[in-house]
Amino acid sequence: MKFSRMFIPTTKEAPKDATLPSHQYLVRGGFINQVGAGIYNFMPLGKIVLDKIRAIVKEEMDNAGANEVLMSFVTPLELWEESGRANVMGHELLKFKDRKNAGYVLSPTNEESVVDIVKNRVTSYKDLPLNLYHINTKFRDEARPRFGLMRGREFLMKDAYSFHATQEDLVREFNLMEETYKKVYSRLGLEFRVVEADSGAIGGSGSKEFMILANSGEDTIVVCDSCDYGANIEAAKRKELKKEKLETKQIEKVHTPNLKSIEEVTNFLQIDPYYSIKAVIKKAIFKNSVETVVFFVRGVDELEETKACNAVDAIDLEDATPEDLEKANLIAGFCGIIDFPKNIKVVFDKELIGENNIVCGANEEDYHLTGVDLTALDLEYKDLVVVKEGDTCACCGGKLTYTKGIEAGHIFQLGTKYSSAMNATFLDSNGKAQPFIMGCYGIGVSRLVAAVIEQNHDEKGCIWTKSTAPFMVDIIVSNSKKEEEAQAGEKIYNELKANGVEVLLDDRINARFGFKMGDFELIGFPYAVVIGKKLQEGLVEIIDRKTLEKVDVALEEVTSKLL
Ligand code: ATP
Ligand code: MG
Ligand code: MG
Ligand code: MG
Repeated sequence: MKFSRMFIPTTKEAPKDATLPSHQYLVRGGFINQVGAGIYNFMPLGKIVLDKIRAIVKEEMDNAGANEVLMSFVTPLELWEESGRANVMGHELLKFKDRKNAGYVLSPTNEESVVDIVKNRVTSYKDLPLNLYHINTKFRDEARPRFGLMRGREFLMKDAYSFHATQEDLVREFNLMEETYKKVYSRLGLEFRVVEADSGAIGGSGSKEFMILANSGEDTIVVCDSCDYGANIEAAKRKELKKEKLETKQIEKVHTPNLKSIEEVTNFLQIDPYYSIKAVIKKAIFKNSVETVVFFVRGVDELEETKACNAVDAIDLEDATPEDLEKANLIAGFCGIIDFPKNIKVVFDKELIGENNIVCGANEEDYHLTGVDLTALDLEYKDLVVVKEGDTCACCGGKLTYTKGIEAGHIFQLGTKYSSAMNATFLDSNGKAQPFIMGCYGIGVSRLVAAVIEQNHDEKGCIWTKSTAPFMVDIIVSNSKKEEEAQAGEKIYNELKANGVEVLLDDRINARFGFKMGDFELIGFPYAVVIGKKLQEGLVEIIDRKTLEKVDVALEEVTSKLL
């Protein structure tokens, strides 16, 4: 491909709200542009990268025996009513009506659609197992879309759903998917950790997340320095708790009112009811002793948030310093923004946690915001004990440290949650109808475009890994007006192409050398071949984007050097 024929709208300016390198460089490098809040266009380079990631995901899923399908992006609300998720999903689920007043949703995930496909089509245990996947647009009306592709509202996900006759077979597939995911992230050239995770409101028991290690990651994970153990802090906390069960059992509940309505809760808290609906009150108990209360507040606008924060002496998440967040993580085990549920259940122990401190759960709606199964927070004290850095809890006895990760994939053992709700059954070997036992497996394909850059960049721009680079080599013709340089460029270009190397020829007549070089560094192709003054001696320069090292190479040897 010739640079002069490609649409690569690079710019010097980054969007004002772009704080992450991936957001800045992907926009500046002409990979993507923003259409609306959390909604992006992919420009030619961005589309190439997205397709490369998608192809690797597809290849590994196919190798694992999964079948690619394409489920509709728009799904009837009826299906969501059948599964019981129409109301549980909260505001992330975008619902709308057609001209006949029928309800629809933009799919944020596709459990309902896939159960509907399999229901009455797969009827016998003999047809199982089955794993169906698709790679398709998702829409989640995220409360705070941000960080470019990292947290979009419209994004691309690979989601797979498996169906089994037995729990053992589900576990086998779950393990196969874990191995498949590891192959995907390894092929993408990423450093990652598989961590034990909470299932969130998606449901089920076993669940693992795949975290791309990067300082900018929104998730805090605990990793062991001596083995592969990793967990998001919620799950690690639970594991630690098992050990502490005896100790925790000794705590006596002094007072446990079961507050069922918002009014009861707000009276109890003595705060403005309106804000209490929007407030999240996080209480932390650290190993039987009371620590700070962490409040996070979500209001409908900034002024309200500020007022609410003042009312309950809270930190607005947006204003929280890294230290605040760190503290919140250390204390509460996680931090997030949660609305009060409709049927809130508060467990309160005056003596233990003090007059003004409160522990509260939240509803299923918010699992997307926290990644935590908040319905499981029927709160018991033990749920709030956290693992400390430096603890040796959880695995081989090695030291645990906190690190940051980007959630790039999540696999779940769903069980029969959706098949039971939607009455999707098969006949087992005794001829008895049983609900399908299911697993589901997601990969954030468009989030991965950003994750690659979060892990691979410098102050000049992107540094693509070999498998994700839009082109492997950028041939920079220093002065395209010079006949010999232009010809040498064409020669190398044709040779590399003939040898199967993905190559871009920067043949722009009116762009100066410095400008072409700047684009190379910003866009981040793994190699550049610079054709300049040394051509008279039969030499060109190869630049390694990662190290920025330059070597002179004879014109005839360029191709063999780059193969
Ligand atoms: P998060 O905790 O970041 O909100 P999630 O737990 O809600 O993610 P899942 O329901 O597990 O997400 O979806 C599977 C994958 O889809 C995630 O692991 C992530 O890589 C990707 N994903 C989820 N939400 C978004 C988003 N808003 N933008 C881009 N990718 C996303
Ligand atoms: Mg989410
Ligand atoms: Mg999550
Ligand atoms: Mg998840």
